[in-house]
Amino acid sequence: MEPLVDAFVAAALAPGEHARVAGHLTHCTSCRIAYLKATGAGSPAGGGRPRGPEGGGR
Ligand SMILES: [Zn+2]
Repeated sequence: MEPLVDAFVAAALAPGEHARVAGHLTHCTSCRIAYLKATGAGSPAGGGRPRGPEGGGR
């Protein structure tokens, strides 16, 4: 799923795929880590950004 996470962050997925990846991120730790890295939220130097897929306000 992780290649899909990159496309998810770039909003490059079809709506059905986007929803599927969003649901997957809620229970798949490795994909959630990939998502956080892709959005920069996983950076230790990122400061007090909220954690979790719903934290992305882009
Ligand atoms: Zn996964």
